[in-house]
Amino acid sequence: MTASKKILLLPGDGIGPEVTEVARKIMAWFNSTGRTNFEIGEDLIGGISYDTNGTPLTPATLQRCKEADAVLLASVGGPKWDNLPFADRPERGLLGIRKGMGVFANLRPALVFDVLANASTLKPEVVKDLDIMIVRELLGGVYFGEPRGIETLPNGERRGVNTQVYTTSEIQRVARVAFELARKRRNKVCSVEKANVMESGVLWREEVTKLQASDYKDVELTHMYADNCAMQLVRNPKQFDVIVSDNLFGDLLSDLASMLPGSLGMLPSASLGAKEASGRQAALYEPIHGSAPDIAGKGIANPLAMILSYGMMLRYSFSMADNADLIDKAVQNVLRAGIRTADIVEKGQTPVSTTVMGDAVVKELAGLAG
Ligand code: NAD
Repeated sequence: MTASKKILLLPGDGIGPEVTEVARKIMAWFNSTGRTNFEIGEDLIGGISYDTNGTPLTPATLQRCKEADAVLLASVGGPKWDNLPFADRPERGLLGIRKGMGVFANLRPALVFDVLANASTLKPEVVKDLDIMIVRELLGGVYFGEPRGIETLPNGERRGVNTQVYTTSEIQRVARVAFELARKRRNKVCSVEKANVMESGVLWREEVTKLQASDYKDVELTHMYADNCAMQLVRNPKQFDVIVSDNLFGDLLSDLASMLPGSLGMLPSASLGAKEASGRQAALYEPIHGSAPDIAGKGIANPLAMILSYGMMLRYSFSMADNADLIDKAVQNVLRAGIRTADIVEKGQTPVSTTVMGDAVVKELAGLAG
């Protein structure tokens, strides 16, 4: 049978290869049961690519990413490469792949499985059953705006400049992603900026409002200033469904929200590009955690963020909601059974290894699928 879709795996560095091993087993299970029919390729990114090819991302790898139907990347970086020039650092591979694939919308769910509500630093009742989605604009705004740089003024003082800049199309394409997502969830979008002090924020608010009025009247739209949103996320996060924001505020707010569930090892993400006329959409899936050098090689990393990232791929790239739900359910059941890696272990439980956790999810998948 010809494979229907091409997936490219990028294990990267540190715990990346360890959690990728688990993802491979999950993907193999789905293929073996006929639920998917994917061709799975693999390539290098980050420090390992620098060691092998002298660059964190080769043009050939980027080309393979562009040709794949979806990419699943684990993590890059580590102390071994920390002193390299900026352009050679593993993290440059990440920026390169995001830019090269044109993925402008970063989706980060903050989801608290009920059995893990105690792992959060917030009170369990504040986060229990939390399910919010932060959509961050990824390729524009102050991180890319011109002019930028550091200059020395005539009086000898130095001046650093960055420019926050957004155009109508940049705002509308990311807002569109948020509205579409909301339709598949609880139908609410909260658009976040600082229109009270920034012109780019005024434009953001106006363009999101226009788009909702023209194309998404059925979705409830509210607006919030970024500073208030940060407070509300800690005070009462369950008031939100989908939050959409620019690159800078989205970066901060999604990091803040990622702490609500308690462990980095649980959080997946997706980065999506524009939908082409053919329906094809560039898509990069990755756990939000890094390469965790402190635990790399010990076989104790939590593979659930990687597994859940694969679940997001099934849901958003291939519209396989049933398979994605199956993954979520299997993970939930494994956690309920008290099977935990060290980062989410509770009193009285014995932590399991990365492999044992992965195998438990595969077994649960098989049980659920009957
Ligand atoms: P990190 O996410 O790698 O680790 C932070 C802490 O969380 C560590 O104590 C780590 O052990 C723990 N942790 C992370 N993932 C875990 C998992 N799956 N299971 C159990 N524990 C987990 O962040 P950091 O320490 O700031 O960065 C380490 C390296 O990763 C740096 O080189 C950084 O640049 C890179 N990084 C890469 C990415 C990415 O690849 N997307 C993201 C963030 C950081």
